[in-house]
Amino acid sequence: MMIDRYSIALFLVLSFLVGVLDASAGDSDLRYRACVAQCEKTGCVGERCFPHCKFPSDRVAIEGPWYMQEPLYLKWKQWDCHSDCRYNCMIDREKEREALGDGPVKYHGKWPFRRVFGIQEPASVAFSALNLAMHFHGWLSFFILLYYNLPLKQDKKAYYEFASLWHIYGLLSMNSWFWSAVFHSRDVDLTEKLDYSSAVALLGYSLILAILRSFNVRDEAARVMVAAPFLAFVTTHILYLNFYTLDYGWNMKVCVVMGVAQLLIWTIWAGMTRHPSRWKLWVVVIGGSLAMLLEIYDFPPYQGFFDAHALWHATTIPLTCLWWSFIRDDAKFRTSNLLKKAK
Ligand SMILES: [Zn+2]
Repeated sequence: MMIDRYSIALFLVLSFLVGVLDASAGDSDLRYRACVAQCEKTGCVGERCFPHCKFPSDRVAIEGPWYMQEPLYLKWKQWDCHSDCRYNCMIDREKEREALGDGPVKYHGKWPFRRVFGIQEPASVAFSALNLAMHFHGWLSFFILLYYNLPLKQDKKAYYEFASLWHIYGLLSMNSWFWSAVFHSRDVDLTEKLDYSSAVALLGYSLILAILRSFNVRDEAARVMVAAPFLAFVTTHILYLNFYTLDYGWNMKVCVVMGVAQLLIWTIWAGMTRHPSRWKLWVVVIGGSLAMLLEIYDFPPYQGFFDAHALWHATTIPLTCLWWSFIRDDAKFRTSNLLKKAK
């Protein structure tokens, strides 16, 4: 009996602690909590009512078409209701706080963003889409330069030895920005995992690419030997995030280490090489490091739209443009070197 009582007490203390640790300033507010609870019962916040919150527990819907009775459909409705209630209670609480002269606080780990057409973080979505467009443009112009403007070998292959590596880089970048746009539109478990996984894959791959290009590794076997341990680590990390636990702190450390490592490699290389376009490398490295600061100095969204994370996505747009321009210059430079040697 005693053990039982102790274990119940311990359980209560632990669950209380977990509740507190899990909450942000905004959602631990009692008036916010009361508002959400009320809304999930009545389906309304003040004058606003949500159709998603009318569950077919009353007999009417049972006679409805089959798809209205699907448990999956019900789940979606409950989930939408939950999300609408949280959002509208948050907006109301923030208005009250503003009237009192208080600044914004986080709710469930996120700043209070204003939605546009149901999109959760419109600024981040727009900037992600622009990044995607920039990578597509950069990759396409690289492709055209390589196969239409520069001379080709007899077997119709490009002289540039790093061509296929940059093609994969282009694909991984576009994939990553696509999922970033999806995730910032609607933040659920699946979109979050897809965004994190593609970002890790891109970051890991660009680290391998930084090593291969700066050390001028051209031999196929050597490339495989260098890439193998990194590929193994990145794959394990992605599996860990998806199927074990999405540990934000650990993932942040992994991403920062991989990001800083490649910035350092490019910096050292830019300082040593006689590459004609090394200034572009310098601008990208310095710009990229400054942009990383935006991820560390987290500030609330200006006008409910532009927070540090959105601005971070904005800064990478011009950097991407310059980066692909460097890659094109590198292709031209290497090709002309190889042709000179051949003569
Ligand atoms: Zn993002």
